[in-house]
Amino acid sequence: MDSKQFKEAAFSSIEEIVKYYDNIEDRPVLSTVEPGYLRKLLPADAPEEGESWADIQKDIEDKIMPGITHWQSPNFLAWFPSSSSFPAMLGEMYSAAFTGAAFNWVCSPAVTELETIVLDWLARGLGLPPCFHSTGPTGGGGVIHGTASEAVATVVVAARDKYLREATAHLGLEGEELEDAIAERRGRLVALAGASAHTATKKAAQIAGVRFRSVPAGPGDGHRLTAAALRDAVATLRARGLEPFYLTATFGTTDTCAVDDMAGIGGVLADDAAAHGREVWVHVDAAYAGAALLCPEHRALMSAAALARFHSFNTNLHKWLLVNFDCSGVWVRDRTLLTRALSVAPLAILANAHTDSGLVTDYRDWQIPFGRRFRSLKVWFVLRSYGLAGLRAHVRRHVALAEGFADRLRGRADLFEIVTGPRFALTVFRVRGKGEEGEGEEQEVRNARTKRVYDEVVEGGKMFLSSTVVGGVFAIRHNPATPMVQEHHVQKHFEVLVEAAEKVLAAEGA
Ligand code: PLP
Repeated sequence: MDSKQFKEAAFSSIEEIVKYYDNIEDRPVLSTVEPGYLRKLLPADAPEEGESWADIQKDIEDKIMPGITHWQSPNFLAWFPSSSSFPAMLGEMYSAAFTGAAFNWVCSPAVTELETIVLDWLARGLGLPPCFHSTGPTGGGGVIHGTASEAVATVVVAARDKYLREATAHLGLEGEELEDAIAERRGRLVALAGASAHTATKKAAQIAGVRFRSVPAGPGDGHRLTAAALRDAVATLRARGLEPFYLTATFGTTDTCAVDDMAGIGGVLADDAAAHGREVWVHVDAAYAGAALLCPEHRALMSAAALARFHSFNTNLHKWLLVNFDCSGVWVRDRTLLTRALSVAPLAILANAHTDSGLVTDYRDWQIPFGRRFRSLKVWFVLRSYGLAGLRAHVRRHVALAEGFADRLRGRADLFEIVTGPRFALTVFRVRGKGEEGEGEEQEVRNARTKRVYDEVVEGGKMFLSSTVVGGVFAIRHNPATPMVQEHHVQKHFEVLVEAAEKVLAAEGA
């Protein structure tokens, strides 16, 4: 493809993409293809000769589209959103044009410098304390990773190495003796997370070769990790000779958007550090709900003062902040803790005066991969196109839509019962019995009924939601935080749910 052909193909692709967005609502939101559908549609071998763009493009609609679930549809309400915007798409396009591995500053200085700047802009916009700014007092700063799971795995490794370095420093050992002491000590390390935290922490512990403990966070506690539960868990581990070294505190859990008791956690771990002489690294995972911190009214559950006691923070800009997947902002209070854990003696081929000067950031040492994409461009385009005020309005609009949805559920208390929320635009609810208020009814009966309503709605294909089980309760999650959702869509979502609930209850009565 030469540049003239590229221009024609790109115009035609953009036209198709715009049409896709304009008419997305007309498509069934959920792909219903059977596993292996695509192998039946594509030849066994790659084409021997190149094909025309027109032939390739045609296959998007015919072969790819059937296997696409339309995450940007206003009827996609499942999990958390993976939001998108045209400025971010343009960022991806330029990034692809300038493509390079960009592991070091010298690879393309703009890639590194723009990333540091936009993450400082965001840190200030989100109200993160100065320790997380690159210009702050503790040598902190931000980096873009692909996903929250990558962020958690990276900080667990940094926390592990910090802890082991400090725990063995007084031994005065070197070489193999030090390695042996570190290996022995590593066997005692435990990474912690609340029971409602994402499985990213368990996976990170597996990667880092340390134990993992889930700390109970039950319905009575609003599904959040409390100070009391954490104190008990830490005491139990210490009584067994184990050493908690890391905790994920969640701001907006995956199931219900619960917020762990940030101030309480800080207090418990300060007491623990005073008693044992070594601090537990606290990482705040705000993968989805972190976007809400742009709005001061959502900062009560995690003040800058509470956050200033912790070590790292992440939020996925690709969830609620209009930056296309993938883009997870990660901030640390001390960047040397990342670089000490993740840098390896550079190969001779990487030697350059800028790295040697110590004056530049080489982001390869802040992450697990070596090469990296120019992701900050799409963040810059989004921040400049919408402004912080536009992004705040975006978050507030979704929060208001969810409030309206919850009000509708409350207005049909004969059919529905809210389990949690609405919190950060997520409402978790279940179906109750018609007119009976549910007294004396077994939980399994309600669970089975809610599941039938859920299946009826998803099979109906008009919208796609996710379900969950919290505290033994089977519940449906409604999260209207995709960019295109409007008030009339939420009304329709509610009507579809009412229709399904009435149908299921009528069938039960028959
Ligand atoms: N943390 C939380 C709270 C989440 O809700 C999720 C996913 O929804 C993740 C982490 C994992 O996100 P990622 O796909 O970016 O690894």
